[in-house]
Amino acid sequence: MKKLTVGVLGATGMVGQNYIRLLQDHPWFLVSHVAASPRSVDKTYAKAVNGRWRMNDPYSEDVGNLIVHDAADVTMAKEKCDFVFSALGMEKSTVRTFEERYAAAGLPLISNNSAHRHTTDVPVLIPEINPHHSAIIPIQLERRGWREGFIVAKPNCSLQSYLPPVYALMKAGYLVKSIVVTTLQAVSGAGYPGVPSLDMIDNVVPFISGEEEKTEREPLKILATIEDGRFVYEDSLNISAHCNRVPVVDGHMACISLKFKSDKPSLEEIIAIWNAFGGEVQELDLPSAPHPPIVYREENDRPQSGRDRHAGNGMAVTVGRLRACPVMDIRFVALSHNTVRGAAGGAILSAELLCAQGYIGG
Ligand code: NAP
Repeated sequence: MKKLTVGVLGATGMVGQNYIRLLQDHPWFLVSHVAASPRSVDKTYAKAVNGRWRMNDPYSEDVGNLIVHDAADVTMAKEKCDFVFSALGMEKSTVRTFEERYAAAGLPLISNNSAHRHTTDVPVLIPEINPHHSAIIPIQLERRGWREGFIVAKPNCSLQSYLPPVYALMKAGYLVKSIVVTTLQAVSGAGYPGVPSLDMIDNVVPFISGEEEKTEREPLKILATIEDGRFVYEDSLNISAHCNRVPVVDGHMACISLKFKSDKPSLEEIIAIWNAFGGEVQELDLPSAPHPPIVYREENDRPQSGRDRHAGNGMAVTVGRLRACPVMDIRFVALSHNTVRGAAGGAILSAELLCAQGYIGG
C-alpha cells in the first residue's frame, strides 16, 4: 500500500515531537511536511528542535532534513500532504481560523487543540467509545461547502484516563449517574518549557486554567447522540472535577468515585467488564490500537505514573485500586500517557479509524 503523506502543524512542540516519534516507521503514514511558528520557519527540523528535542529516541534523518514551514501557509501543506495533524499552541480564535482554512483547502485535519471541540458539526473522537461520531463528517462538508477537507478533534488529555473505564461500564448496561474525579496531571501537559521548575519541584499546584471545565464538559459530547445533523449532549451524567499539576514528567492519573443510576455490578464483574473491553479499532486491529485498551492491575499500589504510563506503547489506560465507596458506589484509579494516548497517539489512532472508514485516503 502506498503511504499517505502527512503534515504536522506545531511539529516542534511537545505534542508535535510525539507525532514525529510515533509516525516514524508508521505502516500507513509518512511525514512529508512540518510547520510551526515564524521563529522556526525556514530552518531544517533538526535546527528548529535543536536544544529542545524531548523524546528519548532520535528523529530520522529524513525528518531532520525537512524544512519547517509557516503554519499559516496552507498552500504549501496542500502541495505536500494528504492530511494534517494540528498541535498548534496558539490563541484559540487563531487556531479556529487556521484549522478551518486547512479544511476549506481540502485537507482533513485532526486537532489536539480545544478550539473546535464544541463546534456543533465537529466530532471529538475517542475511537473505542464513539467511532460512529464520524458520521457527522459528510454533514460538516455539506454545511460548510467543503469538498474533501474536514475537522475532527481529539479530547482533552485529562479525561482520557477515566472516560474509557467509565464508558466500558455504561456499554455493559450499568448507567452512571455521578462522577467525582481528581486528576494528578504531568508537567508535559503544559507543553515545553511549560510550568517553571520553581513552581513544580517539591510542589503540587491545585489549578490548571480551563482544565476542570474541559474534564467535566467534553465527556458529555463524546457520549452524545447525533440528531438532525448535530450533537445532542448527554445530559443525565454529572461530573465534578479537581485538576492538579504534579511533579511528574508524563502520565495523567485520575482518582474516580462513581455512583450508578440503578443497577450496580459487583467488583468482580467490573474487573471482568474492563478486561473484556474493546472497540471497533481493536476488532479492525488498526496499527496503533492497544490490545487490550484497558489494563487492570491487581496490586494495591498500581497504577503508578512512572511505571504504567507506557502500557500498550503508551496507548492503553491502566486501572487499579477498585473498591467500594462509602459515599458513592465505587472508586478506582486510572492512568494514561498524556502526550501519547492523550494527544499524538490518540489522534493517530483516530486518523487510522478515519482511513478504515473511508474518510481519509478514499
Ligand atoms: P508546545 O510544546 O508549546 O508547542 C506549541 C507548538 O505550536 C510549537 O510547534 C510552536 O512552534 C507552535 N506555535 C506556537 N505559536 C505559533 C504561531 N503563532 N504560529 C504557528 N505555530 C505556532 O505545546 P504542546 O504541549 O505541544 O500543545 C500543542 C497543542 O496540543 C495545544 O493546543 C495543547 O493544548 C494541546 N494538547 C497538549 C497536550 C499535552 O499533553 N502537552 C495534550 C493534549 C492536547 P514554535 O516551536 O516554532 O514556537
